[in-house]
Amino acid sequence: MEVIKISPRGYCYGVVDALKIVRQAAKDAALPRPIYVIGQIIHNRHAIEELSGMGVITLDGPDRLTILEQVKEGTVIFTAHGVSPLVKQRAQERGLHCIDATCPDVTVTHDLVRDLVAKGYYIFYIGKKGHPEPEGVMGEVPGHASLIETEADVDAVTLTPEQEKKLAVSTQTTLSWWDTQRVVQYIKQRYPQTEIFVDICRATQTRQEAVAEQAQGADLTIVVGDPRSNNTNRLVQVSEELAGVPAVRIEDLSQLKEEWLKGKKRVAVTAGASTPSQLTRAVIRFLEDYQPGA
Ligand code: SF4
Repeated sequence: MEVIKISPRGYCYGVVDALKIVRQAAKDAALPRPIYVIGQIIHNRHAIEELSGMGVITLDGPDRLTILEQVKEGTVIFTAHGVSPLVKQRAQERGLHCIDATCPDVTVTHDLVRDLVAKGYYIFYIGKKGHPEPEGVMGEVPGHASLIETEADVDAVTLTPEQEKKLAVSTQTTLSWWDTQRVVQYIKQRYPQTEIFVDICRATQTRQEAVAEQAQGADLTIVVGDPRSNNTNRLVQVSEELAGVPAVRIEDLSQLKEEWLKGKKRVAVTAGASTPSQLTRAVIRFLEDYQPGA
């Protein structure tokens, strides 16, 4: 079968660095034990299982503060998604040793929203509800930002005349570039005075652009990644909406259904920024050896 290996795909530098930080911590005998990761270090089950084999405990829960409540001693690692200042403060109050694996691109957004609010702005922060990254960013500026996912969320915000004077948009790093533009345009129409700062990271953007261009002409796009990975789910959407190619998401080769390949000649393959490359390689190898109709 013909396989279009979409490039770039897979691990971004933020994920590579975060994993390096956790692996180094696991090897460092001087660090207080146990070592916990507050939430999934990256949204990928396979990567988490590997770290668990090194003695690192991943804790999960509805939000970072609730997860932290479970920890009484040892070392806590904050994930690439970033955490709010309150989470850091609580960890310090508890005497926990803290390691911050926040991606520098996420830190840029934390710094930006703090800076904007210090200058008197109210912020429409475009992001995914329930995702850890918005939780961390919104926690920088409580009471000075609204989390926006759709146009309806913009309509639901009631601003004071003072807030309306100075408005700004900031965004989560892993959103769909095209969806974000739509919401930004809506905000601009309603509040033309709004200043726009789109913080979608370069890694997310290039992976989405690659799917939009390179998947064209394929019969199917297979996106390898975890269901909780926002950038993985956006790649599915980009294939369907921009390249016009139906797409499926699988965690690994075991989830690939042969019935999807029936009658297909060209299949495009990509992977989310948190997908280990060996998982994607296994899918590509399988498809390259696959004989349609065999
Ligand atoms: Fe950083 Fe972007 Fe990777 Fe997220 S997707 S870890 S923001 S480089």
